[in-house]
Amino acid sequence: MSNFMLGVDIGTTSTKTVVFTLEGRVVAQHAVEYPLLCSAPGMAEQDPQQIYQAVLTSIAEAIKAARATQTGNHRVALVSFSAAMHSVIALDSDNRLLTNSITWADNRASEWSKRIRDEFDGIQIYRRTGTPIHPMSPLCKLMWLRHDQPDVFARAARFVGVKEYVFFRLFGKWLVDYSIASATGLFNLQELNWDKDALALLGIRAAQLSEPVPTTHHVTGMDADIAARLGLPADTPFIVGANDGVLSNLGVNAIHPGQVAVTIGTSGAMRTVIDKPLTDPSGRTFCYALTERHWVVGGPVNNGGNIFRWVRDELATAEASAARSAEVDPYDALTRIAELVPPGAAGLLFHPFMAGERAPLWNADLRGSFFGLALHHGKQHMIRAALEGVIFNLYSILPALEDLIGPTKTMMATGGFARSALWRQMMADIFNREVVVPESVESSCLGAAVLGLYALGMVPSLDVISDMVGSTNRHVPVPANVAVYDRLRPIFMSIPGKLQQEYQALSEFQRQCTEVQTS
Ligand code: ADP
Repeated sequence: MSNFMLGVDIGTTSTKTVVFTLEGRVVAQHAVEYPLLCSAPGMAEQDPQQIYQAVLTSIAEAIKAARATQTGNHRVALVSFSAAMHSVIALDSDNRLLTNSITWADNRASEWSKRIRDEFDGIQIYRRTGTPIHPMSPLCKLMWLRHDQPDVFARAARFVGVKEYVFFRLFGKWLVDYSIASATGLFNLQELNWDKDALALLGIRAAQLSEPVPTTHHVTGMDADIAARLGLPADTPFIVGANDGVLSNLGVNAIHPGQVAVTIGTSGAMRTVIDKPLTDPSGRTFCYALTERHWVVGGPVNNGGNIFRWVRDELATAEASAARSAEVDPYDALTRIAELVPPGAAGLLFHPFMAGERAPLWNADLRGSFFGLALHHGKQHMIRAALEGVIFNLYSILPALEDLIGPTKTMMATGGFARSALWRQMMADIFNREVVVPESVESSCLGAAVLGLYALGMVPSLDVISDMVGSTNRHVPVPANVAVYDRLRPIFMSIPGKLQQEYQALSEFQRQCTEVQTS
C-alpha cells in the first residue's frame, strides 16, 4: 500500500490541491476558481462560503483523480494547508458572517495606513509584528472597518482570516498558525502571541481572535459527513500549515542561508529564510514565520510581469498582433525584439512603478517613467529597458535584505518571467549572482505537504525538500553585462528618492483626472 500527501493552497484566484507521493512526485491535482468581488472603488473581497466549498471540492476531486491513476490501495497520510496572507472576515457571536473575506488586494484602508504610520508610531508596530504598515494588512483593514462600518465592527465577536474560517468549518476550532498570524500586523513575533498595543489601538480583545498555534499543529476528527464527502477517513491528520509566501520558499528549496527565492508572476517578491525573527529599522522588509526556527524576510513588489503585459498590450500592440497572426507567443516575439539591443538598452532606464510600489519604498504614489530617452532610442530599447527596469526594481530590495541578514549567493527564480531565457539572464547579470530555476511544481502546495511530513515526525527536518526539487535552468552572470549594469544600477536607484514630491503631485493630479472621468 502506498501513501499520498496532500498540499492545499487557498489562493486569491483559486484553491488548488496537489496530491504527491511521500517522495514529492505529483500524482494528481485539482483547482477550483472563485471570483474577486470589486463592486466599490478599492474593494477586493471574496465569499468565504464559496472558498470553503472550493476547498472541499478541490480535495475530493484531487483524491479521485489520484486514485484513478493508480492501482491497489492508497492511504492519504496527511492534508496540509497553505493560504494567501492578510485576509479579514468579521463574524458575530453565533459565528455568522458579517463581512466577506476582505483580501490583501483591497486598498480601502489606504488612508488609515498613512495615519497609522504617521500618527500612531506605525514603525514601532511594524518592528514588533513584522508586517509593513500598508493597506494590505489586517491591522489597517480593521482600523478602516472600525471607522467606515462602525455597526459591523461593534457587532463583530470575532475577526479571522480565510484559512481559519475553513478550519473552523472542518473542525469547529478557531486556530491560526503563527505564519498567517505574523502577517496580520497584530502578532508579536518575540512573544508568539497577539500584540497588546496593536490590539489596544484597534480597541479589540485577544478573545476576538483565533488561538495562535505553531504551523506544525495538526488536528483529526472531522465530522463524518465531511470526511465522506472528501473521500477520507475522519482520523486523517490535517496540518494547519502556513502562508503561501513562506511555503513557496520551502517548495523551491530556498531555506538555507544565502539562498534567495525570487518570484516574478503578475507581481513579484524576494524572500530568504533565517532562524529568528528580524525586522528592519527603516521598515523596508517583512518578517513572517515558517516554523518557530524558520523565519522568512523579504519584500513584495507590485510591478513584475504586469509591466511586460502593459508593454505587450499598449506599447508594442502591432508587434504583438503580428506575433499572434504568426502563431507565436507575443511575449516570445517581444523578447526577441529586446534581444536586438545590448544590455543597458543604450542608456535608457525604465522605472516600473506603474502600480505604485511596495518594497522597499512602500509608496503608492510612485509612478512609472522612461528616463534618459534620446533620439537614437527605438521601441526595441524601450522593451528591453522595461524588462531591465523590473529586475532593477527587484534588485533594490536586496540591500535592505543584506543589511539585515548578510550576504546572499544563489537566486531561485520562479513565476511566468522564467519562461524567458533573456529575462533570466538579465536577472543573473543585474544581481551578479547565479540564477537557478527550480522544476515547475506548485511550490506552495509542495511546501505545505513537506511541512506536513515534518509536523507528523515522518521526516527529521525540512531538508528532505532538496531531494524533491530538481532544476531546469541555470544562468551564471556574464562579466561584460555585469559591468554595464553596475554603471546603470546606481542611477536607477537614486531617482525615486529624489522625486518624492513630484510623484505625489502627479499621482494626486491623476486621481483627480480619474474622478472627473467617472463623475
Ligand atoms: P500569476 O502571477 O498570475 O500566477 P504567472 O506566474 O503566470 O502569473 O506570470 C504571468 C507573467 O509572466 C505575465 O504577465 C508575463 O509578464 C510573464 N510571461 C508569461 N509568458 C512569458 C514569456 N513567454 N516570456 C516572458 N514572460 C512571460
